[in-house]
Amino acid sequence: MNDTLTSYLGGRWVSGVGAGADVADAVTGEHLHVVSSQGLDLSAAVSFAREVGGPGLSSLSFHQRAALVKAVAAALGERKEELYDLSARAGATRSDAKVDVDGGIGTAMVYAGLGRRGLPDDTVIVEDEPVQLGREGLFVGQHVLTSRRGLALQINAFNFPVWGMLEKLAPALLAGVPTIVKPATPTAYIAQHAVRIIVDADILPGGALQIVCGSIPGVFDLLGGQDSVGFTGSAETAARLRGHAAVTHRSARFNAEADSVNSSILGPDAGPGTPEFDLFVSALVAEMTVKAGQKCTAIRRAFVAEHQLDEVTDAIAARLAEVVVGAPGAPGVTMGALVGLAQRDDVREKVSRLSARAAVVYGDPHAVEVVGADAQRGAFMSPVLLRADDPDVEAVHEVEAFGPVSTLMPYGSSERVVELVARGEGSLVGSVVTHDDDFARDVVLGIASHHGRVLVLDRDSAPESTGHGTPMPQLVHGGPGRAGGGQEEAGLMAVVGHLQRTALQASPGRLQRILTQQ
Ligand code: NAP
Repeated sequence: MNDTLTSYLGGRWVSGVGAGADVADAVTGEHLHVVSSQGLDLSAAVSFAREVGGPGLSSLSFHQRAALVKAVAAALGERKEELYDLSARAGATRSDAKVDVDGGIGTAMVYAGLGRRGLPDDTVIVEDEPVQLGREGLFVGQHVLTSRRGLALQINAFNFPVWGMLEKLAPALLAGVPTIVKPATPTAYIAQHAVRIIVDADILPGGALQIVCGSIPGVFDLLGGQDSVGFTGSAETAARLRGHAAVTHRSARFNAEADSVNSSILGPDAGPGTPEFDLFVSALVAEMTVKAGQKCTAIRRAFVAEHQLDEVTDAIAARLAEVVVGAPGAPGVTMGALVGLAQRDDVREKVSRLSARAAVVYGDPHAVEVVGADAQRGAFMSPVLLRADDPDVEAVHEVEAFGPVSTLMPYGSSERVVELVARGEGSLVGSVVTHDDDFARDVVLGIASHHGRVLVLDRDSAPESTGHGTPMPQLVHGGPGRAGGGQEEAGLMAVVGHLQRTALQASPGRLQRILTQQ
């Protein structure tokens, strides 16, 4: 029986050959399918994107493309239950699945709205007013943005197969650039099903969207200056891909969203009984347990004023004791499984590195009580809270345990916590939980240089806050340094990232005639 996950290339569903990679159900350990791209003509897929997908999309106006993005989101919305069911096989509870599926659909909807309202009903964007370049005004310059003639290759991490795909697909579609998706192997079946839903709905022009399930040997060799790569995953893989000649010599654009050791800081003003204390505890527990902590934005380092460390430790441990680990959908379960046994081994190994210098104060990384499943066959793990009384220990600032794991640490002053946070060498997000203006100002301005996003959480913002872990399509997602140095989302800036900015120089009249003929 051929149980290889199919890819959608050249307008057809095609199957790789060979042994491939086995993918198992995260909850039961049961074999699901094989992922292999061996034997697939990836070079033809690249040509199909450039020669068919690109012209089909770039000839549409921005408003027409925005309508496509909206239709994609609507088609997925109609069949999202199918995606929730598949997500459960990857260990995701229903609410975890909603973060990925509804989050992705919502992101695409936001892009559709931004495209309709913020971009012209045209194929070119005139960015600014003409600038006079000569004394008499006979010669002026003006910037325009047009679609690049290449493709957007998106390489995604396993944790958000739907959202990760849509947050990259929507801006590329708006920009008139075709996409090839390369999902991560462990959850490729979820991304593939999302593509199937889009294909079934027959919304996009041919070649606008293709997906390769499996590895992509040789594809980087075909990329050049009109192409872009949007990568999400580990810093190690990012570094390897960034060094390819496609990027270093031929200037394909490369945007990386890599791992990061994000932090949250509780202000010294926020003792037990204050709303901020409770907000901090709830946020930390949520970030540890949503998606079983497999979130690039999750809080890995939690900084607390020295005098509050014991009380915070106790409050978080008490909340973690209420977490029910088990099969998604089983009665009472609030945290599902990791994506697979290999991922669990990786997280356990990272916890053992952390626990060499920090005490485990809640949870056993090797044992957990599980509801509705077998704890050993499924990739289950207890939430694990560590406490490093010495925050100068290097491992706590370096090691990202990509699971339900976080480390508490003390600090003595705002200067000190700013310095400790910077040891993460660049993060996607940091949060400051305080009701004290001076502390908020010192810390926010102190840590901003090392973050793509900083959340200030207090009793005033809490009722509408979207939370520490949620990137918003209107805002920057990405961080400096270790976090990859990239920038995704940020509204229309992500669309502009796929366009070419060209300075046109001509007489004012000629320039006007060129641009109004569009
Ligand atoms: P990963 O092992 O680095 O893989 C990421 C992606 O790269 C996968 O699709 C993988 O495919 C692909 N890949 C690996 N080698 C490749 C190559 N030589 N050529 C082309 N593609 C290649 O990361 P992961 O384990 O999936 O994800 C977990 C990591 O991602 C965590 O460290 C997390 O912090 C990070 N992450 C970051 C963000 C963010 O927005 N910053 C979001 C989510 C996750 P295969 O699966 O087929 O190997």
